[in-house]
Amino acid sequence: MNLSKLSEILQAEPKFRFKQVYQALYLDLIDDWQQASVLPLALRERLNIECPLTIQAELQKDASDKRSEKAMIYFTDKVAVETVLIRQRDRRYTVCLSSQAGCPLGCAFCATGASGFTRNLSAEEIVEQFFFWARRLRHNQDVEKIDNVVFMGMGEPFLNYDEFIKAVKILHDPERFNLGSRRMSVSTAGITEGIKKLSSEKLQINLAISLHAPVDSLREQLMPIGKKYPIAKVLKTVDEYIAKTGRRVMFEYIMMKNTNDDDDDARALANLMRKPLYLVNLIPYNTTGRFQASSPARINTFQEKLESMGVAVTQRRSQGQGIGAACGQLAGKKK
Ligand code: SAH
Ligand code: SF4
Repeated sequence: MNLSKLSEILQAEPKFRFKQVYQALYLDLIDDWQQASVLPLALRERLNIECPLTIQAELQKDASDKRSEKAMIYFTDKVAVETVLIRQRDRRYTVCLSSQAGCPLGCAFCATGASGFTRNLSAEEIVEQFFFWARRLRHNQDVEKIDNVVFMGMGEPFLNYDEFIKAVKILHDPERFNLGSRRMSVSTAGITEGIKKLSSEKLQINLAISLHAPVDSLREQLMPIGKKYPIAKVLKTVDEYIAKTGRRVMFEYIMMKNTNDDDDDARALANLMRKPLYLVNLIPYNTTGRFQASSPARINTFQEKLESMGVAVTQRRSQGQGIGAACGQLAGKKK
């Protein structure tokens, strides 16, 4: 798929073409310009050559997991990323988008980090992943809706800030996908420059911070980028973000057995997180090899400990483990 020449081509057309083309692309979700029967034949043919709509994708389905689907999307240079569709209740869906092919940050628990970094994605390539799922659901558009978008696939969105935010604006644009910004969430490993920039956007997108450890020594082992962005620096920036936006911030904490899940960790974490508009989200560890998951009982105890110390806590239900589609398992390679 490549829409880079679209505006140039439409400039030579009468004004109303723009509306027709947007309707066909973003509402009818066509995957071949021939389906846009309101357009003149010659224009359809030209668009098919210069703005191809076909998405090169490989769908991975797993019979054991009916709630999520994963797809590998191939771009024109053959670089590929993974994207996930997660079914919520009532035919509502969450789409998880990748912002980079691979990730340069190399977190110890993350499959994407282990796969290395290939390149940043363009905004169009980020949105292409959304197009793929929207088209897949199109035949049932009345009942099936993509409700939420999470930038929690491969890569660190704030190391590709400009393209990431451009993608958000395309999804949000009333003339295009018209997705409310409150329905979008971005997760960062704690790149403070990105947190600052986001606080100046006129967008109500939700912010999540990958914390995963209550002290720098452990966090640096798990997330090497923690050396550049120590916990105190990240939290100071988050506090400024909250002061400016009044929005709540979620802190992600992957529960890893005998690593970050004992009572001392809970106490240390509580001392950091006991603030208004802070919310801790405990995440079950999806196996990527190096660590072990905390038991459900341990996660519950950890949650109770945090709550008893005045912290707001939720647990994330993990989905997509069967197809390696859960958080941190996106590797971008054929297995
Ligand atoms: N790079 C960003 C966004 C992508 S990762 C970030 O790190 O925040 C999205 C989420 O998946 C993050 O919270 C990340 O920490 C989490 N994650 C990574 N590996 C995981 C694993 N093995 N199990 C569970 N969650 C994982
Ligand atoms: Fe990159 Fe996020 Fe994975 Fe860390 S957890 S390696 S920042 S994608």
